[in-house]
Amino acid sequence: MSLEREKRTVRLAEKLAREGDLSDGELLELIRDRNEASARCLRRLAGEARDRVYGKKIYIRGLIEFTNYCRNNCFYCGIRRGNEKAVRYRLKEEEILECCREGFELGFRTFVLQGGEDPWYNDERLEHLVRAVRREFPDCAITLSVGERSRESYERLFAAGVDRYLLRHETAVKSHYEMLHPAEMSFDHRMQCLRDLKDIGYQTGCGMMVQSPGQTEEDLVADLRFMKEFRPHMIGIGPFLSHKDTPFKEEKSGTAELTVYLLSIIRLMLPEVLLPATTALGTAEEGGRKLGVLAGANVVMPNLSPAGVRKKYMLYDNKLSGGSEAAEHLDLLREEMGSIGFEVAVDRGDSRMDG
Ligand code: SAH
Repeated sequence: MSLEREKRTVRLAEKLAREGDLSDGELLELIRDRNEASARCLRRLAGEARDRVYGKKIYIRGLIEFTNYCRNNCFYCGIRRGNEKAVRYRLKEEEILECCREGFELGFRTFVLQGGEDPWYNDERLEHLVRAVRREFPDCAITLSVGERSRESYERLFAAGVDRYLLRHETAVKSHYEMLHPAEMSFDHRMQCLRDLKDIGYQTGCGMMVQSPGQTEEDLVADLRFMKEFRPHMIGIGPFLSHKDTPFKEEKSGTAELTVYLLSIIRLMLPEVLLPATTALGTAEEGGRKLGVLAGANVVMPNLSPAGVRKKYMLYDNKLSGGSEAAEHLDLLREEMGSIGFEVAVDRGDSRMDG
């Protein structure tokens, strides 16, 4: 890496911080020619941007993985329907409410109900569940993350009391989407779902895997461009990590290094966005979540599922669910965040995006 290229990338980082955007060509250069100096510069500027909007507060979400049944067959995912080795489970409403109660006691004010696309959880059952959580926890935010549904279904669940919805777009490039998913899945439909969600009034989260098979640096620029235009309230990104019982078992996993670099770029493009340091980032590298926060993230989502099912929601190999990833060890997370100068907030942690 020549000194000249280093200087150029640092100048691009500074311009990004000043203007909140770069041309696609400049973004590509910033990613392709990344180096220790540009990473350090982005980290500092993104940290400052995050501090201006959210201060040193880290928002927490209690993640309840309530079903690992899934009708989809995404090539990367460990709970794809074709994985016959996956041991399936489905939590009942009362078990989910029990997780929320535990979480509330611990200080969680957002519950994220995530699952595979499980047909048993039809509109009627999901609505019943959401109403029950809403009734018992009127001051908490409810986030759903159960994949693609019809607009009517999203409307019905919103009316029942859901505040937020997480649906990663996975990749903003159709041809790449088709490398990650079987032909029966549709890029256009996933994007339509995201537009519907935002339009209905959900605080909406999108995001992509970093270094998923076939992903180019141009594809990442397309992801950044899409997110800048879509203006989601939240963006979840994490490295692709291979799972031994999927078609992508031999594929190379993504790195924490590029993931945190992108976190900084995203923070500078969308300073108000809620940006989690994800479990995948923590799994890819020891201390990865701290690196994420230092690079501009401001959310973590500890696991609030019943201990007995955590190992069954195995999206990728070695997915962490113990230690500070476990909701019941919030003290460890507080310590971890405290050690780098951050404080865990007991707060819904709504987005400051203006929509
Ligand atoms: N069924 C829901 C939830 C999916 S799991 C939905 O479709 O939104 C949540 C996220 O985990 C996915 O969106 C995907 O980005 C991520 N994920 C799945 N498999 C992964 C893997 N092998 N490595 C890294 N992330 C993965």
